[in-house]
Amino acid sequence: MIILVMNAGSSSLKYQLYNMENESVLAVGRVERIGMDASILVHEPAGKQEVNEVSEILDHNTAVRKLIDMLIHKEHGVLASMKEINAVGHRVVHGGESFKQSTLVTDDVKKEIRRLFDLAPLHNPPAMMGIAAVEYNLPEVPQVVVFDTAFHQSMPQESFLYAIPMVLYRRHKIRRYGFHGTSHDYVSKHAAAKLGMPLEELKLVTCHIGNGASCAAILNGKSFDTSMGLTPLEGLMMGTRSGDLDPAIVPFTMNKEELTLNEVNSMLNKHSGLQAISGIGSDMREIVEAMDEGDKQAKLAFDMYTYRLRKYIGAYAAGMNGLDAVVFTAGVGENSAAVRKAVCENLTFLGIELDEARNAIHSKEARYITTDDSRVKALVVPTNEELLIARDTYQLTKDER
Ligand code: ADP
Repeated sequence: MIILVMNAGSSSLKYQLYNMENESVLAVGRVERIGMDASILVHEPAGKQEVNEVSEILDHNTAVRKLIDMLIHKEHGVLASMKEINAVGHRVVHGGESFKQSTLVTDDVKKEIRRLFDLAPLHNPPAMMGIAAVEYNLPEVPQVVVFDTAFHQSMPQESFLYAIPMVLYRRHKIRRYGFHGTSHDYVSKHAAAKLGMPLEELKLVTCHIGNGASCAAILNGKSFDTSMGLTPLEGLMMGTRSGDLDPAIVPFTMNKEELTLNEVNSMLNKHSGLQAISGIGSDMREIVEAMDEGDKQAKLAFDMYTYRLRKYIGAYAAGMNGLDAVVFTAGVGENSAAVRKAVCENLTFLGIELDEARNAIHSKEARYITTDDSRVKALVVPTNEELLIARDTYQLTKDER
């Protein structure tokens, strides 16, 4: 069974084509600059040369048509005909309270995703454009939507409610939703397999730290708490996002600096985090490099980042009344031995004994970074959100054929 996984943004569209017989990736690619001049399609067919094509791609319909043309291209393609595509799975950021799991796309589902535009105005509309574009180009093919928020729908009220008037929750559904759910779900399952324990008996903290960053308390296989909230701004310090702060800072800054709502929003989302403190940038590689060369601001940014992560791990261990393992994933979590070291070294009281040699190893495999005797384990588990989307799509459509 062949499954196309799509992640549509407002001007971009990423795709991966899977053969679910053996979960192998047949092609990876992306279309960038949709609706702008000189759109680019980058296509990497497995075992063949990468292709870069510049053309005019005005909308998502054309982008999907171009990528299908590429998938069945005589020279660069990997399929004989577009009829070989059995199903398409889409990443959708916000499923609100309506979607607790992945689901087949129907008219009602589309209506509900549209109703949720309010909660994710930047992310859900392009996902709908992706769905419509597939309907247009592949009208017979079933589609599945996989939500970033769905995994966290298991959180209890004490985790997901804000201590603000209940009417705001009732009227506007203002609550914590959490994001990166597909990733937290994927790495928790893989961590349990690596630990050789049933997921249902484990207390895990998963740290998805990339450009955006969140951690989750996973109790008996279900999300019990997570650091992102109504939007992906809350929680950990990130590349350009502030994470947690005193909400009074918003009106205070607006008043003192004469900022508009849009400006303060942009300050917290795009001009804060590692970038704001280091003055260097948002990329952890640059921060660590500068820190190693003695840059004080870079060191401060690094210390703030790792301290906040440590606090969350401690808070979640308390929240679950115990901890079996901490899992690191995504760009920083998978690649930065320095960040993992700074976090784990200072959690010895919890029973985490870092093994420096293991931590220094660079690998694409799931692996331990603690000693064999460590009471609480720490692991690196590379995330693969696309594969999880492909698996859910497969499960929901395999009987449709
Ligand atoms: P996204 O959140 O956009 O999916 P990723 O999970 O790919 O992003 O993470 C990207 C980030 O990972 C980069 O901005 C960079 O900070 C970080 N990163 C990647 N490689 C390294 C590395 N070797 N050391 C430290 N940080 C790294």
